[in-house]
Amino acid sequence: MNLLTKLSMIKGVGPKTAEQLRLSGLETVGDLIRFLPRRHEDFSEVTPIASISPGKRTIRARCEKTEIKRVRRGMTVTTAVLADDTGKLKAVWFNQPYRATQFDSGAEFYFSGDFDLRSGRYQLTNPSAEKVSDMPVQTDRILPIYRQVKGLKSQLVRKIIAELRPLITMLPETLPESVVRHEKLVSYSDALLGLHFPKGVEDIRRARERLGFEELFQLTLASQLNRQENAKLQGVAIPFDQPSVKKFVSELPFKLTGAQRIAAWEIIQDFEKPVPMNRLLQGDVGSGKTVVAGIASLEAAQGGYQTALMAPTEILARQHAETLQRLLEPFDITVGLLVGAVKGAARKELYARIADGTVQVVVGTHALIQESVIFHALGFVAIDEQHRFGVAQRQALLSKAAIMPHLLAMTATPIPRSLQLTVFGELDVSILGELPANRKPIATKIASPVSADRIYAAIDGQITEGRQAYVICSLIDDSETSDKKSVEAEYKKLKNSIFGHRSIGMLHGRMKPAEKDQVMLDFKQKEYDILVSTTVVEVGVDVPNASVIMIENADQFGLAQLHQLRGRVGRGEFQSYCYLMMSDSKKPSERLREIEKSNDGFYLAEVDLKLRGPGEIYGRMQHGDLNLEIASLADTREVKRAQRAAEDFIQSGEDLLQYKQLAQAVQKYQRLTTLN
Ligand code: ADP
Ligand code: MG
Repeated sequence: MNLLTKLSMIKGVGPKTAEQLRLSGLETVGDLIRFLPRRHEDFSEVTPIASISPGKRTIRARCEKTEIKRVRRGMTVTTAVLADDTGKLKAVWFNQPYRATQFDSGAEFYFSGDFDLRSGRYQLTNPSAEKVSDMPVQTDRILPIYRQVKGLKSQLVRKIIAELRPLITMLPETLPESVVRHEKLVSYSDALLGLHFPKGVEDIRRARERLGFEELFQLTLASQLNRQENAKLQGVAIPFDQPSVKKFVSELPFKLTGAQRIAAWEIIQDFEKPVPMNRLLQGDVGSGKTVVAGIASLEAAQGGYQTALMAPTEILARQHAETLQRLLEPFDITVGLLVGAVKGAARKELYARIADGTVQVVVGTHALIQESVIFHALGFVAIDEQHRFGVAQRQALLSKAAIMPHLLAMTATPIPRSLQLTVFGELDVSILGELPANRKPIATKIASPVSADRIYAAIDGQITEGRQAYVICSLIDDSETSDKKSVEAEYKKLKNSIFGHRSIGMLHGRMKPAEKDQVMLDFKQKEYDILVSTTVVEVGVDVPNASVIMIENADQFGLAQLHQLRGRVGRGEFQSYCYLMMSDSKKPSERLREIEKSNDGFYLAEVDLKLRGPGEIYGRMQHGDLNLEIASLADTREVKRAQRAAEDFIQSGEDLLQYKQLAQAVQKYQRLTTLN
């Protein structure tokens, strides 16, 4: 028997069981050994019913009778009377109707759950149950609970794994011995034994520590190897043109922040090396990333190379093109805009001017990656709001250059430190950790629908002072399936009543690109006091005169999205306000309370990571497949530990390939996380 042996060959696994296992993705002995328990249930301390007190409790009892009740909308409540020699108590399960028939009369079970007060009576709520006679003898009654895929019972899994125990005991180490020793980890085989057959909670803790470390070690090793490989690539060296940069900076209408200066300097230095830059420019909304990219594109143009700046929306691309045009005009640098709205002859001509190098800075949407776009000498690629793009799009743009270009990825979605060390480990990071000095923190308030009038009054006050406002709705028009507010309905409502004396514009994704541009332009030029919009303004849009944003159905949005939306205001010297309108008058969620409390995107990203997990946050990127089973990327301490160990391993010069399992995992992660 080895890891590749089919489970159907194991004693006690008949054809039916084998098929059930196969449907759960478990075909071989190895699959089952690596099928880790989702959690453990501790039945080791049993309380007699007579002396039970509130808290998490385990009892050993028989079930005397059960009753099942259907309550509203398909919900079921199952109750049972449980008895031991000392007394009786009531147990309740919500939506677990199978409990009604699970307990054969007379048989003893361990029941483990919260004993607490519910509607005036003490009861055991949603207890798990294990038949006493099924309990494996060798354990301390701490039972592994396996994921229930396709009705696969934990008890069955436990029985088969017990057959595999001798094999697990002999499994070879998968990490380098030096790492195991240095980190004082338990061996691979002990870790698996500790999870499948724990003798106590300490076994479980050590096992999880070891396997979690291993996952993070593979991940950080992969990103460090990616970084090494990038450093070997050939790139274009672009010399520092000090006079131009000086002139550029002195002609800005503001003084660069210290952070902008440092970031620009880091880019200038990277450009000078004949190795492609791989840099993430991370700065909270409104921190001034665009001008940094502007300096870089100036350098590229003066060095004889073209720039491609890709943005996720047409509105944003147009805004960037206008900004760069203005900034680069004094240097006779030509800026072009390539978006869907540029059509026919104009588009053909633009293609030609990109191909012959007359257009030196090309700003666009993903239209930039179309095949017909051919660059003359692409040397610098900047990607704004980079988390909006996938690896494939990034790669497609980079591959438009003959030699790997310098890459600047910009993001306002801050990447928590732990992710920076793992999935983003190959990037150099520049952080704009300060906002321009003229900014005031945005005052954020959660509001229930009943206070809407007060908020409209506040908005009106701002408009009287010369400011402008956004009203954000998630829907475009009213729909039958949702009671969320829509742009069209709100636009009409505001125009015909409360804000009859103000001018109002409307913006949403179903309008034609040219219409959208016109509305945006009009709003910028103060033709409108209020813009009622969907989240198409979510990223990047820059109208510094706008000082109020009212977000309808705010509870429907994610934390990062709310922070981005809020970032549409507070982009100038004016005190700004953000009103988070709840759908109802219920208690606000933790998410809303966090964003009301803090303006700090970095802090909010950490909170988001804890609330939602990295898969959700970086779902749009390639990292959905990371599939960490045990480790948490939010655990910065463990991530740092693994990173240090990976560094030491690389330093030691040991050959990765001698560790087959490790090498395979690392290669997989290298493919998943690479930027190039
Ligand atoms: P983001 O980092 O969100 O992309 P932008 O680059 O759009 O921010 O800049 C936001 C606003 O701040 C713009 O109007 C820009 O002109 C302005 N800005 C940028 N840098 C500074 C600075 N150092 N001082 C004052 N205003 C600045
Ligand atoms: Mg921006």
